[in-house]
Amino acid sequence: MKVLITGGAGFLGSNLCKYYLEKGWEVLCADNLGSGSMDNVKDLMDNEKFKFLEIDITNNVNDLPRTDLILHFASRASPEDYQTNSFETMMANSIGTFNLLKKANKDNARFLFASTSEVYGQANLIPTPETYYGYVNSYGPRSCYDESKRFGESLCYEFIHKFNVDARIVRIFNTYGPNMKFNDGRVVTNFIHQALNNELITIYGSGKQTRSFCYVNDLIKGIHALSTIDGLNGEVINLGNPAETTILELAEEIIRITKSESKIIFKPLPEDDPVRRVPDIAKAKKLLKWSPETTLKKGLTKLTEWFRK
Ligand code: UDP
Repeated sequence: MKVLITGGAGFLGSNLCKYYLEKGWEVLCADNLGSGSMDNVKDLMDNEKFKFLEIDITNNVNDLPRTDLILHFASRASPEDYQTNSFETMMANSIGTFNLLKKANKDNARFLFASTSEVYGQANLIPTPETYYGYVNSYGPRSCYDESKRFGESLCYEFIHKFNVDARIVRIFNTYGPNMKFNDGRVVTNFIHQALNNELITIYGSGKQTRSFCYVNDLIKGIHALSTIDGLNGEVINLGNPAETTILELAEEIIRITKSESKIIFKPLPEDDPVRRVPDIAKAKKLLKWSPETTLKKGLTKLTEWFRK
């Protein structure tokens, strides 16, 4: 079996490349190296089943060879990063998704779109199930990401219903683990970086806002299940760890784990920053027989060790 992974040199993409290779698949990794890095895939380059292609999926994807499966993970995902690179983000999720869905249709390949919990916006139903329509600002600093992911989902819907493409959508909640960039601006990497350097830990707002953090190995298993189980055409599934934590608790846990001398400072909360975010994973449990196993403490300890190296 052969899989094309777009954004394959990024955080999730590179973890996916490694996992599918371990399962014996041939892996074609496509990345424009906008935010991805060759460092993330350098250990895979000697594997004869692995191939890296530096391409931009918003241009032409027709020259890419046929694969059985396309995993579309090419997009910035850190709020700081996608706001700086807003046009690139919007195009990867719209034109990029359109190009790859056309390819999936032509090649009769299965397609999986990496969507996001951000499609729920400022959710007022917690934990949030897939049936929740979202409460999203279409005109604001986060909309380049939120709305382009929502549009990507609409594209999947149309290709499924008009052309019978076997497409599935995963809505990914906050995930952390090795191959994240220490400076990508997201909370886990910011805090670990600051703690390891005994710098001030920057909490935005009061720190009472919550997120639910999933360790990458858990997430990858869920994505593999969603992409390989037959009969899930058209399914939209949340993947994430439902253990809710405040950002203040996260900072305190990271200080404990790293034995840091860092102190906390409070900075202004960015516009449209969601107050609570927790996935309802009943559907993933039922259809994928999946649930996350790694506790926050264990996952943060592993990531900290990786960063130290
Ligand atoms: N955050 C923070 N300090 C930081 C970075 C982020 O307090 O240095 C907060 C941010 O305001 C948000 C949460 O941590 O409430 C998660 O932010 P992140 O950028 O990781 O992603 P998001 O979950 O908002 O997409």
